[in-house]
Amino acid sequence: MTANRISLEALERGTPFAQRHIGPDSEAQAKMLAQVGFASLDELTATAVPDVIKSTEALNLPEARTEAEVLAELRGLADRNQVLSSMIGLGYHGTFTPPVILRNVMENPAWYTAYTPYQPEISQGRLEALLNFQTVVADLTGLPTSGASLLDEGTAAAEAMALARRVGKVKDGVFLVDADCLPQTVAVIQTRAEPTGVEVVVADLSEGIPAEVAERGVFGVLLQYPGATGAVRDPRAVIEQAHELGAIVTVAADLLALTLLTSPGELGADIAVGSSQRFGVPMGFGGPHAGFMAVRDTYARSLPGRLVGVSVDADGNKAYRLALQTREQHIRREKATSNICTAQVLLAVMAGMYAVYHGPEGLAAIARRTHRYAAVLAAGLRAGGAEVVGEAFFDTLTVRVPGRAAEVVAAAREAGVNLRLTDADHVGIACDETTGREQLAAVWSAFGITELPAIDELDAATEDALPAGLLRSDAYLTHPVFHQHRSETAMLRYLRRLADRDYALDRGMIPLGSCTMKLNATTEMEPVTWPEFGGLHPFAPVEQAEGYLTLIRELEERLAAVTGYDKVSLQPNAGSQGELAGLLAVRAYHRANGDEQRTVCLIPSSAHGTNAASAVMAGMKVVVVKTGEDGEVDTADLHAKIDKHRDELAVLMVTYPSTHGVFEEHISEICAAVHEAGGQVYVDGANLNALVGLAGPGAFGGDVSHLNLHKTFCIPHGGGGPGVGPVAVRSHLAPYLPNHPLQPTAGPETGVGPVSAAPWGSAGILPISWAYVRLMGGEGLKRATQVAVLSANYIAKRLEPHYPVLYTGPGGLVAHECIIDLRPLTKATGVTVDDVAKRLIDYGFHAPTMSFPVAGTLMIEPTESEDLAELDRFCATMIAIREEIDKVGSGEWAKDDNPLRNAPHTAAALGGEWSHAYSREEAVFPAGVSAADKYWPPVRRIDGAYGDRNLVCSCPPLDEYDG
Ligand SMILES: *Cc1c(COP(=O)(O)O)cnc(C)c1O
Repeated sequence: MTANRISLEALERGTPFAQRHIGPDSEAQAKMLAQVGFASLDELTATAVPDVIKSTEALNLPEARTEAEVLAELRGLADRNQVLSSMIGLGYHGTFTPPVILRNVMENPAWYTAYTPYQPEISQGRLEALLNFQTVVADLTGLPTSGASLLDEGTAAAEAMALARRVGKVKDGVFLVDADCLPQTVAVIQTRAEPTGVEVVVADLSEGIPAEVAERGVFGVLLQYPGATGAVRDPRAVIEQAHELGAIVTVAADLLALTLLTSPGELGADIAVGSSQRFGVPMGFGGPHAGFMAVRDTYARSLPGRLVGVSVDADGNKAYRLALQTREQHIRREKATSNICTAQVLLAVMAGMYAVYHGPEGLAAIARRTHRYAAVLAAGLRAGGAEVVGEAFFDTLTVRVPGRAAEVVAAAREAGVNLRLTDADHVGIACDETTGREQLAAVWSAFGITELPAIDELDAATEDALPAGLLRSDAYLTHPVFHQHRSETAMLRYLRRLADRDYALDRGMIPLGSCTMKLNATTEMEPVTWPEFGGLHPFAPVEQAEGYLTLIRELEERLAAVTGYDKVSLQPNAGSQGELAGLLAVRAYHRANGDEQRTVCLIPSSAHGTNAASAVMAGMKVVVVKTGEDGEVDTADLHAKIDKHRDELAVLMVTYPSTHGVFEEHISEICAAVHEAGGQVYVDGANLNALVGLAGPGAFGGDVSHLNLHKTFCIPHGGGGPGVGPVAVRSHLAPYLPNHPLQPTAGPETGVGPVSAAPWGSAGILPISWAYVRLMGGEGLKRATQVAVLSANYIAKRLEPHYPVLYTGPGGLVAHECIIDLRPLTKATGVTVDDVAKRLIDYGFHAPTMSFPVAGTLMIEPTESEDLAELDRFCATMIAIREEIDKVGSGEWAKDDNPLRNAPHTAAALGGEWSHAYSREEAVFPAGVSAADKYWPPVRRIDGAYGDRNLVCSCPPLDEYDG
């Protein structure tokens, strides 16, 4: 009847998700295009992207679906995962995430959308949370300096091996690993050791270090405490023996066990590593979880990864910051301590908060409960005639059932419990915080034990099985923060208070070049905390993970389609690990061809610091290629270096679009020159947000790339992790992708071994990227890229009259980010890039990337998700700041006393004395800032050097809390 009837089918389609993900609507896009001087998005990207790399075909991906449809599909996949009670152990345990932490940290964008705390003034909340984590690890391990998380236990142990080799007295010799270490840890260590020429010896150290190994020299020893079999052995004698040999001793320890057992530090260990997963972080089929490392004081300055420290701000107040930032790979490159960049911040925050909420008594009670179940379980097994191996254990038992292990494991599975099939004769059983009487009964019956006394009777008749000589007697977690938040109200408010100190994407734009801080849609996030995704053990039988495996296979295939590669592995749990995996594949390929001498890795000087660090870890020799004036790879220098190293050339690592934010036109030519010399081309895919749907690195010359799903594919940054860094390869490198000893389906038989502890790395967050691709479809993804390029060019055009834009590519256009050059202004006025970054805080912004890849510049990446109003607010702010700089230049404001130099200003500026030439209003409410919506930084500018000189990396003592 009515003329404006809309079809049911159209209404069912609703608002396409792409319109939610992409900030500027078509009207805004038209305005932005006009500013940039193009009639359409297609016309813009046709000019910006060089012809030689442009894809001619649309992405081969399924049609976009609505949010409701995608959630329903994910529900279907979740239903195909079977969550049994997990008693597999091996470093992954059931845990009860306190709902107050689940909802207010893990599911809270104030925490999960934050960036790495490189701008400490707007990151005090997560820095405090990380300091709590460091304190937990330091206290429980008995070693004073802990970092703010590593990627997982296996890689933490591998980092410990590298650290031991770096700082130890013994420079040759082997790395000795006790046979009772976690099997996946041993495998990760072997993967890491091989390319760096380290020999790993695995031996039973229960009777000490075998003489024939000692004779060869030992630079490091790794022990597991408690062991993989569950055995708790006193390691003091082995540690002493190792020290006599000059070796550095690492103890891989279980934090929950350490609440009851003597700490590794007290036992004499130099380094402790492990996983904090069972402190409230779901297993998630392998991750993400925060690995940890703590060391003796002497090694504090050699710790891999990030370290939070205490310093002071401009008013002398206590403030937190990342300590020793100069150690980061950005500065140290091939001399870096490790390649780790993105870590596991969100999960470290959760683990730290779990300890804050439970306190030392609560944690010990959880440990006691866990132990008691294990003790009663063992008593029942023994009473029923089974042979429990060993007397001393914490939570894990090994039971000997000659020839019957598989049968027992199968029976338990029937009863809803997964056990570990250690070998044909042994079954492993691990108890945890979630173990109950029901599981005990199921296990006994799986062993064929039916006639048992009541559990309470068994309990009454059973002693603890913790060795008397190893009971912990010192106090830990004595700091007030672990005692003040025991009620849920107190905890809720503590979490809120910390979150409110921080600036995350839920407040405004984070225009960080190279980091792609785009929307992390709620629909994408929701499934992550569904138990069907969170509750799976990484070594659960694959039949129980059908939903996961389908999702993983589809995501791998779709990422291959997007990048133009043939095969993808999702195992690497950060971009840095993807780099390592990719380079290991290149290495293995050359060796398979008999080209063992091909070890030179060419890296342009503008590359991200992880590139060089990863190359060294892959056993390669880094040769730096110059960058030209125009920001492009200096092709003359490249050709010279190729010629010079022709026979040893392994690979060129090149970022595309370049770290300078331009589409280099010579890329195909560069790839061809490297191939012609017998080398491989590694395209660092961190900037894939400029390419998706327009060009694929696998199609325009790359042999291998890593992607950062926490940049391009919507996994939130978490304040510095988690991430996923898939490695994508062309078919000739596919046989050398990572695999896993405990999950044969996770990679090729001919693979290079695992680069992560878990078969599919941080599987628990893969639903996010899967959902993003499903919601957007090929068209939506391409549109997102085009708008990202449009937004960057819009900003470049608007800021150009005020700040020089450093590099442009074809058509005078930038790619998805742009670099503005502050150096001439700094020279003329003394206002530095730091001053501008801190002044942006007063205006309610997170600074762009500072001084990377060019010192004295800002790199701005708006992404497609910021709408025009936010882009305009940013441009207006940058222009207003330019006017402020002019006032310093003209002498109206003194060089050493102006709102830029004194930024950021806190609420304290509104009271007390005021002796500046500018007003209080100019300080805290500069143009465009509303008093109602003001973001107040909690501290003033932080003195970095002070914190590095006075290294404090755990919660400072109480008396410092008064000021
Ligand atoms: C982010 C980034 C990396 C490292 O990735 P992580 O996930 O942080 O390890 C490597 N290269 C470039 C260009 C990057 O921007």
